[in-house]
Amino acid sequence: PTILAIESSCDETAAAVVCDRQILSSVVSSQIKTHALYGGVVPEIAARQHVETINPAIAQAYRESGKTWAEIDGIAVTTAPGLIGSLMIGVTAAKTLAMLHRKPLIAVHHLEGHICSALLAEPTLEPPFLCLLVSGGHSSIILVKDYTDYRVMGKTRDDAAGEAFDKVARLLGLGYPGGPAIDQIAKMGDAKAYKLPQGRIPDFPYDSSFSGLKTAVLRLTQKLSPNGEALPIADIAASFQETVAIALANRTIKCAIEHHLSTIVAVGGVAANSALRSRLLASAEEHHIRAIFPPLSLCTDNAAMIGCAGAIHFARGETSSMSIATRSRLNLEDCQSLYIAT
Ligand code: ATP
Ligand code: MG
Ligand code: FE
Repeated sequence: PTILAIESSCDETAAAVVCDRQILSSVVSSQIKTHALYGGVVPEIAARQHVETINPAIAQAYRESGKTWAEIDGIAVTTAPGLIGSLMIGVTAAKTLAMLHRKPLIAVHHLEGHICSALLAEPTLEPPFLCLLVSGGHSSIILVKDYTDYRVMGKTRDDAAGEAFDKVARLLGLGYPGGPAIDQIAKMGDAKAYKLPQGRIPDFPYDSSFSGLKTAVLRLTQKLSPNGEALPIADIAASFQETVAIALANRTIKCAIEHHLSTIVAVGGVAANSALRSRLLASAEEHHIRAIFPPLSLCTDNAAMIGCAGAIHFARGETSSMSIATRSRLNLEDCQSLYIAT
């Protein structure tokens, strides 16, 4: 099926047209510059900006796809989880288009979208596989048993991986967003300079806790610079980044081995991290596991991944009520509740 998709759950306004696993057009309007002024995403500003950018984004995606409304089978949109004000803009636009053009509405769980970015990146990828989803709000290890059938094997107990990068970057005075800044400066540092805690949770081998790691970095900076002395920022950044990379790579590979999965994928903004990529790749190779990393443009928020998820549901006869509500939280394992079978 050919699906027009909309994503506005956080600070990216995105629209795309996909045909099954093929991207016909994908438009992403990022608000990063605006929120950088505040050191993080400001929900009220995000929602206002979505209002301004959503119609142009949809119009551009429609135009660039080369498709006509008659050829579009359905409208997919992220309805959960995310910032309510942001989600509402995308959902309102999607409902309006669905009504106007008499198309079915397909609600999509944002994390299912992120998982589907791997399907877009690698045409031969089929479930089952293991997905490491590391983004601004999540760090989960997800067993993709089949299309639309997920089991969350591990998650974070506190800060998400991206959040930890952003908070540590702020601590080191590196600005927002923190991930790319740390990745950059870590290249000049010694990753073995400092030993930091990996945030293990006893008895839950696939869960993470990154707030302890963040606090350890804070203590380290206080110890190294009691009177405001210049900090060895590159060494601290490199040590922090390596700690996160090893922790996530170990947990993911362990889970894959124990569940006899021969393919892992890493998605979400933090999957762009160079240390995480090389750790995962080396460890996967060692255990004869195939590792897939979608390009950065598919790792961060986009509507093509939402369209891919929408196409899968549409093909299964699963569409959503026109009165479906947005939700700030929804477990991935409950994503089937978004559909009424037809
Ligand atoms: P969610 O999907 O959980 O709601 P999100 O979609 O806003 O969150 P993404 O856009 O996927 O999150 O990712 C943003 C995060 O990725 C930010 O925290 C950013 O710091 C981090 N990030 C981006 N590039 C890198 C990198 N090279 N290394 C580490 N982190 C990175
Ligand atoms: Mg984002
Ligand atoms: Fe996201």
